Amino acid sequence: MLNFTVGPVMSSEAVRAIGAEQVPYFRTSEFSELMLENERMMLAFTKAGKNARAVFMTGSGTASMEAAVINCFTKEDRVLVVDGGSFGHRFVEILEIYEIPHTAIKPAFGCGVTAEDLAPYEGKGYTGFLVNLDETSIGVLYDIELISDFCRRNGIFLIVDSISSFLCDPFDMEKYGVQVMITGSQKALACPPGVSIIVLSGEAVERVYSNHPKTVYLDLKSALTNGERGQTPFTCAVGILRQIHARLAEIQEAGGVESEISRIAGLAAYFRRRIKEENLPFSIVSQSLSNAVTPLSPTNGTSANDIFLTLKDEYGIWICPNGGALKDTVFRVGHIGALTEADYDTLIAAFLDMAAKGKL
Ligand SMILES: *Cc1c(COP(=O)(O)O)cnc(C)c1O
Repeated sequence: MLNFTVGPVMSSEAVRAIGAEQVPYFRTSEFSELMLENERMMLAFTKAGKNARAVFMTGSGTASMEAAVINCFTKEDRVLVVDGGSFGHRFVEILEIYEIPHTAIKPAFGCGVTAEDLAPYEGKGYTGFLVNLDETSIGVLYDIELISDFCRRNGIFLIVDSISSFLCDPFDMEKYGVQVMITGSQKALACPPGVSIIVLSGEAVERVYSNHPKTVYLDLKSALTNGERGQTPFTCAVGILRQIHARLAEIQEAGGVESEISRIAGLAAYFRRRIKEENLPFSIVSQSLSNAVTPLSPTNGTSANDIFLTLKDEYGIWICPNGGALKDTVFRVGHIGALTEADYDTLIAAFLDMAAKGKL
């Protein structure tokens, strides 16, 4: 199997080896130490700043999106939310279900948020901002500098879902005044799905302690207090947390976040160059690409979903299909996980073979 989706993705040997081990009991000093190291590495990798904390939630990224919203915002807030694709829309649904007042900003298809998009909300009393830094569903990376400046000017509390951009695109919580960032185990962390991570600035930690959301499992106060001693309030995905530890250590040893970002950026650039060189009948859909993924549209009328199915069934290669209205027009090729340039050569060869056989 060769997996170019955007999650779950291919894992390193070290991460997979841990998956084959027995899962240990976790209320131990050994596991606590591992979790404290996980937290220290996440805080360093996100440049979270003084008094920041990281909590590890057992639940996919959406659990942490919901937890971040309900622990940081109340019905007294007024939240701006970027609704540029299916993940942005998920934030809108969360705000709706918890009846948190909000306004959705809808950028044009495949485009980022512009200064013109934000201008109408300047000085209008908004208190919160929600954005998926890389809107993975269509591969659009939003301009964090623009959003960060807007939030600073307006005293707005900024929550960033960087689930698919963490380790792929440059990010710095302190520099951009990001109060909360979220990521997940199955994207560039390249571990099995099931754990998501919320990094909170010192200010965000204070806000969490003063809020009282109606939830037991997603209450971050208990995650924060248990986390002080390297524990979690409930039985956590122990095996995945051990894999995350190995993976974070692996990144650290290979030169840290910056070298992982440039490795992924190199793979993205290589793939994008190769599809051009081979004149493959695809156009790039996004006007603002992330290094995590390349969203493509067939230019010769072949169904994007048929390309996905042919690659899966006849070549043992997985790319990422799109759903809904984009099913036949967009597919995505990911650049996260344990992939190499040689793997992209295999994918390009498969595309060329499909073309030779009239399937592309
Ligand atoms: C993958 C992803 C999520 C999380 O989805 P889950 O299926 O709940 O893990 C959220 N936001 C973005 C931007 C993502 O790429």
